[in-house]
Amino acid sequence: MSLTKEDVLRIAKEKDVRFVRLQFTDIFGVLKNVAITVEQLEKALDGELMFDGSSIEGFVRIEESDMYLKPDPNTFVTFPWRPQEGSVARLICDVYTPDGEPFEGCPRCTLKRVLQEASELGYTVNVGPEAEFFLFLVDENGKPTTITHDKASYFDLTPVDLGENARRDMVIALQDMGFEVEASHHEVGPGQHEIDFKYDDALATADKIVTFKFVVRTIAQRHGLHATFMPKPLYGIAGSGMHTHLSLFANGTNVFYDPNSKYQLSETAMYFIGGLLKHARGYTAITNPTVNSYKRLVSGFEAPVYIAWSEKNRSPLVRIPARRGTGTRVEVRNPDPSCNPYLALAVLIKAGLDGVKNRIVPPPPIDKNIYALTPEERKEMQIASLPVDLNEALEELSRNPVIRAALGDHIYNRFTEAKRIEWDNYRMQVHQWELDQYLTKF
Ligand code: GLN
Ligand code: MG
Ligand code: MG
Ligand code: MG
Repeated sequence: MSLTKEDVLRIAKEKDVRFVRLQFTDIFGVLKNVAITVEQLEKALDGELMFDGSSIEGFVRIEESDMYLKPDPNTFVTFPWRPQEGSVARLICDVYTPDGEPFEGCPRCTLKRVLQEASELGYTVNVGPEAEFFLFLVDENGKPTTITHDKASYFDLTPVDLGENARRDMVIALQDMGFEVEASHHEVGPGQHEIDFKYDDALATADKIVTFKFVVRTIAQRHGLHATFMPKPLYGIAGSGMHTHLSLFANGTNVFYDPNSKYQLSETAMYFIGGLLKHARGYTAITNPTVNSYKRLVSGFEAPVYIAWSEKNRSPLVRIPARRGTGTRVEVRNPDPSCNPYLALAVLIKAGLDGVKNRIVPPPPIDKNIYALTPEERKEMQIASLPVDLNEALEELSRNPVIRAALGDHIYNRFTEAKRIEWDNYRMQVHQWELDQYLTKF
């Protein structure tokens, strides 16, 4: 689908749109928006609307804060849960400087830059995410609790309850907004769900992830529930991941598929895997950007801990789903839905492309349960681990020039500055666990 400015103006009229929200994300992936009246839409589509970027986290200093929003007409869609008369629409925007240049702190522009690199190598990149989330009850004051609405598990059919109704309404809202929803199901944890939508090109998918989170939270709220994409809300229960499926296409053909080679994976696919594994320690700070992310990356909950790939096993970082032909793809399993999807896709694609460019051959696949290997066996098989906490991940990122280049200096600096503060704040806390362990013992 490709919409022009004229299409957008016409649809806005047809759908009786009264307000348009101009959306973009800050570098942490938090959705921001400014609402305009439909009378301003033409001006907005011409990229003439200016805003003050100084209060947006990770953007700019006060003295250079004028920013322009350049909407992407293809992202024009109305919110189905709003009134149909005098409806509300949104446009996702790139952020530009007053000089007419893409702003270096704009995550969407960052992903576009990496996709441009892919395109120079002759590739388009397709991405399909599997975002998981929890639904929690809210208390009498409307505050989220960590009490789940059910006790069900993977693929369970719960009796018709709050969660299932909410999930159905989420799917309907997403479909109304143009998503091709492929599956939705209860996940392993109580109150945990997953909704999968069809893959699309990387930029459209990043836009969809941002929209998805917003829709899920909005619909949950309308059902009196709180939806959270926090990676590990409950100790001892599976966390929420955002497995990311990636494939490269050239002239409409999946270049990962090669019926005549080992595993039916092309050389390009193998090198892409090589790059993903090589840079994993470097990009984890971006794909798993919170203190809490690392509480998910522990053994026993189908989340990856070790840097390896496999055709079958679900314990390594990269898994190759059985599908071949057009559906041939690699599944990267460490990302979680607290990441900024624009930056996460930018670094994953950059890592894979680096593998392709430099012909990085991956080690042989590991078809064993890596969790069950002893540290000696892992050492012998040269299986490294993902960073164990945000601090280590930031260290690794600082030492990885390829991943840093994907982000650009501005985003790298602002991101790590903020994340180091986040880590320090966390590090200085005294947690309940420590009190339970030590208060009476010493
Ligand atoms: N929740 C698991 C994770 O954290 C994934 C479970 C699954 O989709 N099979 O990655
Ligand atoms: Mg799934
Ligand atoms: Mg899942
Ligand atoms: Mg999966």
